[in-house]
Amino acid sequence: MSPGVYVHIPFCRSKCPYCGFYSVPSKRPVPIWFEGIKKEIRLYKGLFGRFDSLYLGGGTPTFLDDAILSCLTDHLFAHFDFTADREFTIEANPCDLSAEKIRLLKELGINRVNVGIQSFDDGALAFLGRRHTGREAENSLKRLRRLGFRNIGVDLIYGLPGQTLEHWEGTLNQALLFQPEHISCYELTLEEQTVFGRLQEKGEMHGLSEEDGRAFFLAAAKRLGEAGYVHYEVSNYARTEAFCCRHNSKYWNRSPYLGLGPSAHSFDGTERWWNVRSVRHYGALLKRGSPPIQARETLTKEQIRLESLALGFRTSQGVALTRMALEPRSTEMLSTLKTAGLLKLKDGRVVPTEEGFLVADSLPLCFFP
Ligand code: SF4
Repeated sequence: MSPGVYVHIPFCRSKCPYCGFYSVPSKRPVPIWFEGIKKEIRLYKGLFGRFDSLYLGGGTPTFLDDAILSCLTDHLFAHFDFTADREFTIEANPCDLSAEKIRLLKELGINRVNVGIQSFDDGALAFLGRRHTGREAENSLKRLRRLGFRNIGVDLIYGLPGQTLEHWEGTLNQALLFQPEHISCYELTLEEQTVFGRLQEKGEMHGLSEEDGRAFFLAAAKRLGEAGYVHYEVSNYARTEAFCCRHNSKYWNRSPYLGLGPSAHSFDGTERWWNVRSVRHYGALLKRGSPPIQARETLTKEQIRLESLALGFRTSQGVALTRMALEPRSTEMLSTLKTAGLLKLKDGRVVPTEEGFLVADSLPLCFFP
C-alpha cells in the first residue's frame, strides 16, 4: 500500500480543557515551526516513495495564516511525489471556515475537510472550551457544501457530565442533516496533563461509567447504521466505503506513514519513530541539522503479531481467518468469542461485532497464552 504523509500544525487559538494533543495556544512560534518543517521535508525527500494521502492535522491547521498554509503545501508538493488521486485532508475549526478560507483550501488542492464540530449545543461547546457556537458549526458545514466540498468529515464528542442519551442522539441527528461523508464519534476522556484530567485527580470530575460508555457507543452505532453509514473503525463511520479515511486507515493496516512536525509519529514498515514534543526543541534540532526525533522502536516478531491483531480488531476488516489460524489458541478462542457475540466470520475474515468493537483493545490478548 502507498505511504501517507502527516503534518502536525500545533497551534490553536486557546487550549481546550480535555485536549491531550501537543499544541500551543499562540501563533508566535509559527516561524520556528515553519523553518523546521521545511528542513524536515528535505530530510525525507525521496525516502518514502509516492504518497497517496496528505493529512494536515493539529492543533488547528486552519488557524495558520493563508500565506503560510500556501507555502507549506507548495513545499510539500515541490519535494514529495504524490499520486494524482491523492486524498488531501485538512482538520478545521468551524470558526475559521470563512468563504475566503474555504476557497483557499480548494485552490490548494485540499479535497477533504474534517471539521471539529464536537457538538451543536452552545452549553456543551462552552463546557468543552470550544470557541464556536452551534450556529457557527452548522454554517461552516453549509458553506463547505455550497463552495463545492464533496468529502466532509465531522468529529463529535459524547459523554459530557450530565449528558443524556437523548441529547447525544439529538447531536447525531443534527449532524446527519448535513449528510457528512464521514463521522467520528469520540468519548470524552479525562487525560493526564489536561485541565479535565487534573479535575479528575482531585475528584471533581468523573468520566463515563463503563455501562454508560457502552450505551452511548451503541446508540451511535445504531443511529448511524440506520442512516446507512459503514462503521469501519471503532470511532469512525463513513457514508459509503469510498469515504473511509484513506490516510487514517494506514495507521490501522500497518502501512507506512511519514509524520512531520513536533510530536508527529512515523513508520517505514519496520521501524517507528516519533518527534520531540516542543516547537522550540524541534526547531533547534533541525537548525543544527539533526533529525528532531525523540525516540525510535522496532517491534519484535511477537509484538508485531499482537499489534496486527489489535489493529485488525479495531476495524471492520478484522483479521484474515488464515492469519488467525497461526495463533495457538485460535480455534478454541474463536469459538468462545463468537458465542459471546464479540467476533463473527465474514468472507474468510474474523471481524468484530459492535459489542466486539467495545472491547477491541482486549480481544487480541485472548489469543495469547
Ligand atoms: S481540541 Fe483541537 S482546538 Fe482544542 S486545543 Fe486540542 S487541537 Fe486545539
